[in-house]
Amino acid sequence: MPGYKGLAVPGPTNMPFRIRQAMDVALEDHRAPDFPEFTLPLFADLKKIFKTETGQVFIFPGSGTGGWESAIANTLSPGDTVLASVFGQFSYLWVDLCQRFGLEVDAVDVEWGKGVPLEEYRARLEADTTHSIKAVLVCQNETATGVTSDVAGVRAILDDLGHPALLFVDGVSSIASIDFRMDEWGVDVAVSGSQKGFMMPTGLAIVGVSQKALAAKKTATLPACFFDYDDMIKTNAQGYFPYTPAVTLLHGLRASIDMLLEEGLDNVFARHNRLASGVRAAVDAWGLKTCAKGPEWHSDTVTAILVPEGFDANQVIRIAYERYDLSLGAGLSKVAGKVFRIGHLGWLNEIMVMQSLGGVEMAMRDVGIAFEPGAGVGAAVRRFTEPAEPMMIAAE
Ligand SMILES: *Cc1c(COP(=O)(O)O)cnc(C)c1O
Repeated sequence: MPGYKGLAVPGPTNMPFRIRQAMDVALEDHRAPDFPEFTLPLFADLKKIFKTETGQVFIFPGSGTGGWESAIANTLSPGDTVLASVFGQFSYLWVDLCQRFGLEVDAVDVEWGKGVPLEEYRARLEADTTHSIKAVLVCQNETATGVTSDVAGVRAILDDLGHPALLFVDGVSSIASIDFRMDEWGVDVAVSGSQKGFMMPTGLAIVGVSQKALAAKKTATLPACFFDYDDMIKTNAQGYFPYTPAVTLLHGLRASIDMLLEEGLDNVFARHNRLASGVRAAVDAWGLKTCAKGPEWHSDTVTAILVPEGFDANQVIRIAYERYDLSLGAGLSKVAGKVFRIGHLGWLNEIMVMQSLGGVEMAMRDVGIAFEPGAGVGAAVRRFTEPAEPMMIAAE
């Protein structure tokens, strides 16, 4: 079909022209004497996105999954206990990775649609008087269910109990889209990837690492090679890498960081919140429910929508794609067929959200789901034409 294909999956996200153009460069020598003039400011600016001054941010060729692996392989030893919780496909997969690395995983099973269970974490950490738990895992934004968890809340519990465990955060679908504060929240490893909030192609694992995590590496015995933090530190200090970096993608990352900092991180977060609120208004108006079980869990980067009993969410997704060239996210694992997902992160504005909502309405109608056509679109129109900051406008 002529026209743009709509990309409303929660990663890869829409790539800005500016980033695409920034990557349209000749290949270059990553050991050239002037290469650090490009990389050193890049490393410094990336720390602003993670909000860390004391930590380091490493850029590996890879994807978010590689970032998960780096956290485990660099800081832990076989048999170490980690505390985790499972409430969706991504929180599950990190636990699976830990198990494959021979760790003891104390994984709290949580109803899908809720997030990190703070009280349960507190109870288990409190009971762990010998400090056998070496790391606590938090999936800040569970992309499979559209659920955001309280990272600061986990930090507060660790501090309250004086528990020394490392705090690892999966921020793949939150960093650069939803508020994230590495230093303030005492996050020891923060994992991200290039194809979500960073608006880039897949291909980079971007990992923030605290000094505490680097100190833990000294006694950790799991082997790390490709993802070794020490090798990165040694070479990054001079502006180089331990092996061939994805230089083309680094140019895209430069443009991505520039765009995020020019907009201002607080504005980026506010925009995601505003766009997400339009999607949620549409879901309400359709008479449907989000997979997220309450407003405290609502994600500003992805909304998973439950189809009514008797309908197959995959059919909505298939029709949206085949008839209307719109890609929606599928339900994964436990929620397969029950939910479809609208990704609303990255390079996105109101009309792009309206396109997704219109496409969803057409596909839902074709499938026979009952709702008033335009109900969701109209709710989003009303939401998006409300003044963003009524108080501020009144004050001017
Ligand atoms: C996408 C995603 C991942 C996996 O990242 P890949 O880049 O696909 O390896 C991990 N966690 C979350 C929360 C994600 O959204």
